[in-house]
Amino acid sequence: MASANEELEQAQQAQDALRESEERYRAVVQQVSEAIFLLDPQTKHLLEANAAFLNLLGYSTSEIPHLTIYDLLPYDPSSIDAAAHQALLDGEYHLVDQQYRRKDGSLVMVQVSITAITYSGKRVLCEVLRDISERKQMEDVLARRVRQQAGVANLGQRALSGIDLDTLMDEAATIVTQTLGVEFCKILELMPDGTQLLLRAGCGWTEGLVGNMMLDAGLDSHSGYTLVAAGPVIVEDLRTEKRFNAPPLLRDHDVISGVSVIIHGRSRPFGVIGAHTSSHRNFTQDDIYFLQAVANVLAQTIERNLILQELKASRDQLGVILQGVADGITVQDPTGRLIYANDAALRLVGYSSQDELLAAPLAQVLNRFELIDERGQPLDPSDFPGRHALQGRGTSEIVVGWRTRATGETRWSVVKAAPVRNVHGQVQLAVSIFRDITDQVERERRKDDFIALASHELKTPITSLKIFTQLLRRRFERVASQSDPEQGETTPGPGFAHARELATDALVHLVRMDGQVDKLSELVRDLLDTSKITSGKISYTFERFDIGQLVQETVADLQRITDKHSIQIEKQARQEVVADRERIRQVLTNLLTNAIKYSPTADRILVRVEQRDPKEVLVCVQDFGIGVPDDQHDKIFNRFFQVSNPEQRLTERDTFPGLGLGLYISSEIIKRHGGRIWVESEVGKGSTFCFTLPIDAQTLSSAEDIRADGEQTHPGG
Ligand code: ADP
Repeated sequence: MASANEELEQAQQAQDALRESEERYRAVVQQVSEAIFLLDPQTKHLLEANAAFLNLLGYSTSEIPHLTIYDLLPYDPSSIDAAAHQALLDGEYHLVDQQYRRKDGSLVMVQVSITAITYSGKRVLCEVLRDISERKQMEDVLARRVRQQAGVANLGQRALSGIDLDTLMDEAATIVTQTLGVEFCKILELMPDGTQLLLRAGCGWTEGLVGNMMLDAGLDSHSGYTLVAAGPVIVEDLRTEKRFNAPPLLRDHDVISGVSVIIHGRSRPFGVIGAHTSSHRNFTQDDIYFLQAVANVLAQTIERNLILQELKASRDQLGVILQGVADGITVQDPTGRLIYANDAALRLVGYSSQDELLAAPLAQVLNRFELIDERGQPLDPSDFPGRHALQGRGTSEIVVGWRTRATGETRWSVVKAAPVRNVHGQVQLAVSIFRDITDQVERERRKDDFIALASHELKTPITSLKIFTQLLRRRFERVASQSDPEQGETTPGPGFAHARELATDALVHLVRMDGQVDKLSELVRDLLDTSKITSGKISYTFERFDIGQLVQETVADLQRITDKHSIQIEKQARQEVVADRERIRQVLTNLLTNAIKYSPTADRILVRVEQRDPKEVLVCVQDFGIGVPDDQHDKIFNRFFQVSNPEQRLTERDTFPGLGLGLYISSEIIKRHGGRIWVESEVGKGSTFCFTLPIDAQTLSSAEDIRADGEQTHPGG
């Protein structure tokens, strides 16, 4: 049995061991990097604190017993109180983010872990603090960045929504002050003379300054300095600033810190935007990026406004020009609706106001007129070139007669339209131009009337002339070949010999005269044909014949009038066709006569007849003469057209100059048969005129007015 002494010793040992272990724990607690303190939940006094705690909050060990929790907390401690209360109840750990105040008054963000422990037989609170100010700072930076980006995005959106520049600037100033947490923002516009800046918009300044105040743009001012600086200009403390003078605006508002950046413009800066505060502030890189981004939104908007203004000015200018143009001009949208019409277009359709015309449905506008084509046939608005252009069928042109239903008066115009496409090639608009050709059409008509009348009146006397010439020819031929009835054939008397001489001489002239009368009647025939074509009175007599044989006959006829050229038939398909034989002969004669006429130095002409396919035959006449310039290959088939070719002038001295009607008539004849006619030619080398003829023109849908008996009456033109 242990003695009382032994018991005492044992107790002492146990106490020592306990103390030792407590010392060990205390040493460990003292050394951990987390700040730890014990708190009496009743008195709110601190009981113990480790070195890390002293270090974190700046107290000494001796001060600890005098501190209460309220000395450490800057704000309402309700959340930490609640956690402490809970810890005392459940004995678990509770985490709270909380700001603590250092001895010097500065704040530190910590994460507190609170738990209740038994200390010296008492339930106390043990709080472990972990410094999270860095993490918190990062979070703050991120949150600020998000705010700034949202601010810029918001401003950009407002700019795109088309608000006016002044409103946008006001909003920009508000966003800058709110986002950066400063009291002042200024947006300055550089005046045209470059020496002053106007306080165009802003926030925080004394009332009445925005919109009125002028600032010096000299290098010695903050803003002037910013205008020439490569980057943002940051002022930490305006009172000690050495680079420039503090402008009155900033001085009067006790500004201390600030940052300014340029708002760029097209050829020179638009101005400056600045954020300022009356406290000391270190602007971060993020703050500067934000301000720069706001400046960029403003610069882009200003540039866009400028472009819009320029566009509008040029549109107005174009409008003035278009209004002054004598031709009518209209623009249609893809649905065919009129969206523009100049004055001349208004006059054409009898409207006096553009708004009225644009508001009226197109069908209603056109319904005031009976629309006709060149031949007087009704014209459908769907044939208008504008409609073609919108349907993606490119540029086209037609002649339109506008017969006003109310008065019967007709005006004529050439209507031409072209599509306007977007970058993807889709048709966006159709622009139509209406040129008034009423006077020209009237003149043509008078000319046509004259030609019709003159050729008709000339026909009879020329026919008589031909008859009398031939009569005279026959008589003189008889005289010239007669023998003297008294003297006999071998030795005619002097009187008779003289008469024969006279007759022979007269015959020479009569033969020439006969030739000229032939040419004259050809001319008159051409004129008559032309006026029949234009008035739509030409008629065709269809019959079945062999085109190869017709070519052979015509070549033989023409060979007689030239001894210079040998007309050779290179290919001669025998092919029956149904056509107007005499009209086709007329075409062949014209082509061959031209080939002879326009190849004065060549010695051969080639003719080919080929069957193209089961439905068509091709006829070509090739010469080796003066040729036709490229740009006139199409025009050559127009009425009264003659090539402007210097070589031709030379050939015409020896030949009978034509009227430029032969090819026109030929092409009309071929077209009416449903065929095509064209020329391939090179100046100086010769020409090949070709035409195709359908084997049976009657089966062609284009010749629907060919009558069953084989005769066709075509409207002509
Ligand atoms: P013309 O009576 O003047 O010959 P055409 O209508 O037959 O009238 O011809 C029109 C114009 O075409 C002629 O004036 C001439 O300039 C040109 N031409 C016609 N055929 C030829 C050809 N074979 N070679 C060169 N030019 C030609």
